[in-house]
Amino acid sequence: MQTALNKDQIFELLSQIPDPEIPVINIIELGILRDVKWDNELCTVVITPTYSGCPAMKVIEDDIKIKLKEVGIDTIKVELVYSPAWTTDWISDTAKEKLRAYGIAPPDHSTIDKGVLMGKARELKCPLCGSKNTVMISQFGSTACKALYRCNDCKEPFDYFKCI
Ligand SMILES: [Zn+2]
Repeated sequence: MQTALNKDQIFELLSQIPDPEIPVINIIELGILRDVKWDNELCTVVITPTYSGCPAMKVIEDDIKIKLKEVGIDTIKVELVYSPAWTTDWISDTAKEKLRAYGIAPPDHSTIDKGVLMGKARELKCPLCGSKNTVMISQFGSTACKALYRCNDCKEPFDYFKCI
């Protein structure tokens, strides 16, 4: 028999799945889990991928299936919805704080986004020491969704989670 978990319980369960690239935040904090729907025995989980072609998405899909199977849900469909497109605005504030604590500068629309697009940094705060004396080293950091910066004060490199 199907365990009849409701939508909230499934969200709760799936909140145990970390982002494969940033283990400190989960897929709900990342804002990609959109909906859970039941159609008789079929459980459909709706997610909106972050960056198209982000290899992490496949991992997340598998993690969702594994997690649901653990609680006896066997008929699962992971539906990818691209519209409305995911933006870094969907990352929760709690998650942004966790990113900072993890050493990644969280996406910040207010100060630097345009600067990054134009290939130069403006006032990106170092997540390690808080200095604004930072410089972009590369458009791409450890993954395509991040840019690599260096702090001129503490001399440490850090990732910036790019806004989209
Ligand atoms: Zn610093």
